[in-house]
This record gives sequence, structure tokens and C-alpha cells, in this order.
Amino acid sequence: MELRQYTREDIQSKRVVLRCDLDVAVNTDGVVDQYHDLRLERVVPTLVELFSFGARQVVIIGHRGRPNGKPEPGLSLAPVCERLRELAAIEGLDEPIAFIEDISVDPTHHRDQDLVMLENLRFWPGEKNGDAAFARTLGQWGEVYVNDAFGSSHRSDASVTLLAQAMRDAFAGPELAQEVARLGGFLERAAKPFVAIVGGAKIGTKLPLLTLLSQRADQVLVGGALANTILASRGISMGASLMESALFKKASELSGQSFHLPIDAVVSGGKVVSITNIGLHEAMLDIGPETIKNFVSCIQEAKTILWNGPMGKFEDAAFSAGTDAVAQAVIGNEKANALAGGGETIELLERLDLVSKFDFVSTGGGAMLTFLAGGEMPGLDAVA
Ligand code: ADP
Ligand code: MG
Repeated sequence: MELRQYTREDIQSKRVVLRCDLDVAVNTDGVVDQYHDLRLERVVPTLVELFSFGARQVVIIGHRGRPNGKPEPGLSLAPVCERLRELAAIEGLDEPIAFIEDISVDPTHHRDQDLVMLENLRFWPGEKNGDAAFARTLGQWGEVYVNDAFGSSHRSDASVTLLAQAMRDAFAGPELAQEVARLGGFLERAAKPFVAIVGGAKIGTKLPLLTLLSQRADQVLVGGALANTILASRGISMGASLMESALFKKASELSGQSFHLPIDAVVSGGKVVSITNIGLHEAMLDIGPETIKNFVSCIQEAKTILWNGPMGKFEDAAFSAGTDAVAQAVIGNEKANALAGGGETIELLERLDLVSKFDFVSTGGGAMLTFLAGGEMPGLDAVA
């Protein structure tokens, strides 16, 4: 895929509206989790480049969480603004970032500030509704649009699609372009056996991609709440496990030898049970030891590995064994080309200090899977 990339001339003396992946975890003390800021680290080089190309102002936009079109103080981007300022300062970009809560204010009132961040775009319904008037409001903040948010580019939210049309010029940022180049190259080089590992909780985004993924990968190992949904759709009693019953029909259509599902589980309370023995009030929170053995042996044989999504509720040490074992198996397989991505997946790799052991770590989870599976990427089309 050919993306439109900017040159110095495109940026010089311009006000740039920069769409970034700002969706990082914020701890209860209101500070960005130190293991969850890789996405913010990747914003800094783009800022440095834009200013070195003579940008007059950079207006950073993005979202956090799912506030459903209305303000939710717990999902403010204010802590993100603070952390980004710290990270930028480390790289010598010692600018304050003006944080704007009301995005409909007149941008000319903020013309003197070099660096601006707007509040969580999903506080307004227009972002998810694809509202052209909302895109025009955002477009008033500058002349040049740059999308550097690969992790949001599988969606058709206003700020990754309509905004590109609402502004005079629209480009793919360097971070976005690097994701596309690395992931595109990854598929071309994918030696067999190619093992995909998919877990986590974003069932609605990920489930529809599994069929596409199984056409590319030789084996698809499924864990996390995603597996709960598939198992339940096959008539297995999953008790109080997290799942999405609206997707049972879709899940039941998944078939084929390439899918590996959990055969045992660690349930609430910490007990290990066979997958057919989950009690009515028990929830499956991690894959069990027999499943780990099966998954690990597939991973050891792989020449190409793609990983998105934890195998269980890994944030709780009682339910992190499956995810840890998968992580160790992936990095233990030195002959394989390994790729990982996703918000929580990055977090767990940062916690285990394993990011550098992967050939590439994508900031996108659903976006990475969609791209690799050949699905639609409206945010890329808008800057192609
Ligand atoms: P990523 O951001 O890496 O793409 P997701 O956002 O899809 O991953 O899901 C991550 C979340 O899934 C984690 O917070 C984890 O606690 C949760 N999770 C995984 N497995 C389970 C499970 N069996 N039950 C409940 N939550 C789970
Ligand atoms: Mg996530």
C-alpha cells in the first residue's frame, strides 16, 4: 500500500493536526502506567520531525477508552498530555503542551502555542458517528492533517477518515508508514509454519478476523475471553466467564483444524479444571497447564509468530501463567520471526521487559490483526 507522506515543504510554516494513538492505561493515582506508554514514546519522534521541518503549530488529537460520546472525567487525556510532555522533554522538545478541554473554542485564541492537545475526541458523539460537521470543527485547527495513529486506522471514526478530507492536505505520518511497511513486509516474508496467537477481550473486533487469519496462518491458538466465546458457542458450559453472547452464532461458524482452543482452564479462585468442568458460578480467567503445553509445542515449531492479546486476566498474578508461558515460548524460539501488538499485549511485554526481543511490536491490536488479515483499513485509505 502506497501512503502519501509529507516532505519538509508540506510542513513548513503550517499548522498540523496530528492524529495519534493516545489510548494508554492510566493508573488509579491518575498517572499513565509506566508499562503502558510505548504508544506515547512513538509520538515523540514525529513531533521532533514536524518541528524540525518548520511546523508552526502541532495540534495533537486522539482518544482514550470508550466514553460513548459524552465527557467522562476518568477518561480525560490530561494525564496523557502530562506524560507526553515528559517524554518529549527527554528528547529535547521542551515545550509546554496547551491542553484544550473544549474543542469547539476558536483556534485563533491558541495561535501562540506551538504544541496543543485536544481533549478525548470520543467525548463528542461526532467522532464515532462519522459526523462531517465534527470533522470540520477539528479541521479548523490547521491546514495539514497527519494520521500517525495506526492503532485506530481500522476504524472509520471521523478523526481518521472525514478529517483527512476536511483539511487542505492529508498525509500518513512516519509512525503509521513504519507500521505499514513492517507489517506488510512481515506477511511477505512469513515462513511456514506460521502460528498466530490471539487472545484478549475485544471479542467484537477480533472474532470476525479469525477466519481471515486462519487462511494465512497454519495454526491459530486462541485464548482469553475470545476463546470463552468460541467454546460457549460450541455448547460448552462456561459458567460466569467473560464472553459475548451476541457473537455466538458467528463464533460457532469457526471451524477447521488450524484452530487450537483451550482444553483446560484456571477459574476464579485459582482452581484448575478441564474445560468441560467449569462450574456455573466460576469464570475461566486463564488457560490451564495442558493448554499451555499444547500452545507451547506449536510455538516451538513455528518459523513465523504473530501474537495479539493476553491468554487470561494477566493483570492478576493468579491468572498470568498462561500469558507468561506463551511470552517465554515466543522469545525462546529464536529461529522464528516474531511480531506482537495490542494495547495490553504491549503492556505485558513491557512488564516482562521483552519488547526488544521481538522483531517488531505494533502499537495496534485490532488494527494489526485487521491489516494482516487483509481487512478494511479506512484510516489508511484516507491517506493513500
Ligand atoms: P490487546 O489490547 O492486547 O489487543 P484486549 O484489549 O483485547 O487486548 O484485551 C486485554 C484484556 O483482556 C486484559 O485486560 C485481560 O485482563 C483481559 N482478559 C483476557 N482473558 C480474559 C478472561 N479469560 N477473562 C476476563 N478478562 C480477560
Ligand atoms: Mg486492549
